[in-house]
Formats: sequence, structure tokens, C-alpha cells
Amino acid sequence: MSHDTLPGSSVDPVLAALDLRRGTDATTLLQQAVARAGRPAAVVVFDLDSTLLDNKPRQARILAEYGREHGIASLAGCRPEHWTGWDFRAAMRAAGLPADEVEAHVEPYRVCWRDRFFTSEYCRVDGPVPGAAPFVGAVRAAGAIVIYLTGRHEGMRDGTVESMERLALPLPDDQGVRLWMKPSLDEDDDGFKARVHADLPTVGSVQVVFDNEPTHVNDYRRSFPEALVIHLATDHSMRSILVDPGIPSITDFGAFAPQG
Ligand SMILES: [Mg+2]
Repeated sequence: MSHDTLPGSSVDPVLAALDLRRGTDATTLLQQAVARAGRPAAVVVFDLDSTLLDNKPRQARILAEYGREHGIASLAGCRPEHWTGWDFRAAMRAAGLPADEVEAHVEPYRVCWRDRFFTSEYCRVDGPVPGAAPFVGAVRAAGAIVIYLTGRHEGMRDGTVESMERLALPLPDDQGVRLWMKPSLDEDDDGFKARVHADLPTVGSVQVVFDNEPTHVNDYRRSFPEALVIHLATDHSMRSILVDPGIPSITDFGAFAPQG
């Protein structure tokens, strides 16, 4: 993950380039995904952050703690709805910090955030992307091996599994459901995901992939041209990389309606 901010930008060039009204609708796409999950030896890959899990509760908790620790009442009252993506300047303003006070908090907050965000202790409070649990459950019930393939590092495994349990997502069992994490926090997310593309076919036939990062969906499409790669238009790490044409986008899994 890259978490640099683009201060002052009001239009998101990545999401603005998507036209979610065009192409196959979300209900049909998700039904196609479940149908593919029923194919022999099917593997369905899910990213976690901003694909199945919503980090806003974690972001809000860290900013509220920072506010309490520094005696800043507006930030101490931060709530998940003050977050729209990774831009913590925007969240500080939304929580009520006067705009001319934001810059003074950027660097101290970045340090506080970095120490807490990538930990089991904090990731356990993540919420669900709408419809995530019933959809992953349907994929698993159709027979596919589910692989959660995340840029989170192994040190976050306990908190990750705890939030999955609370949110009723199928739990990793090293058989039908697997959780693949980065060995260490230091490894670059993009490099890790590209590296494990080579390992996926050893598990089975990659049929469907879901991820919110444009770089990652573009890479998956190149590695697995026969798979259905679906982009989650939630948020992204604010690099101006566009989703390749031909990759469909959905906002969440709420449109899923089991057939029959
Ligand atoms: Mg993600």
C-alpha cells in the first residue's frame, strides 16, 4: 500500500474514470462469479482491505486516539463517517479540525498512524464491505477454494482472523479457505502480489479475482487472462493509475442475489 495523499484534490481521477452504469450489472457479475466458483478445481481470490473489509473504523479509532493524546477535541470525536479514503487531511477537516491547523498535525499523525495501523490490535475493529460475508460464503458453498490474498503482513494474522470471525466471513482452514499474507511489513505490496501470481495455479484454476487497487487488478488480468477480474470501486492508494478498460467495477457485494 502506498498512502501518500494528494492534498487539495477534490475529484478522484481513478474513480471518476469509471462508469459503473455501463457494462454488465453487479448482480449479473456476481452470479457469474459464483457460477465460475462451481467449476472443477476453481480458485477465487479476494483482496481484504477495501475489498471485503472496511478500514474506516480502524482509521477513526487511530485518529480519535491521537486527538485524545494531544488534547484536540475535534479529532478525539472522529468517527468512521469522517473518512472517505486514505486522505487523513480530509478526515481531520471532516472531524472538525480547522483547515489552517491540519498541516501541523500531518507528520506527528503519520508517525502515530504507522505505529498502529498495521497491527492485529487495531485491524480487529475493521467492518465489512456490504454483502461481503454472504457472497464469500456462496463462493465457498459453490465449491471453490477461497484465497484471501492480502498485503497485510503475518503479524496481523490474529487480528485479521478475529475480524473475519466477527463478520461471519469463512475462516481460514488451510484447505478450502486460505489466508496468504506478506511475510513481513517491509515487503512492497505490489511486488508481493505479483510474486504470488506464480503460486496461485499450484492451488487450482484461478476463476475469479476481486481487488480494489487498479495496479493489482491490471496485474491479475495480465497474469490470468481467462479469469473474471473484478475491481472494487471503494478506495485505492491514490496513485493515478487507471483500471484497464475491460475490467468491470462494482461498489460492493450488496447486489448479490443467489439464484434459484
Ligand atoms: Mg485492498
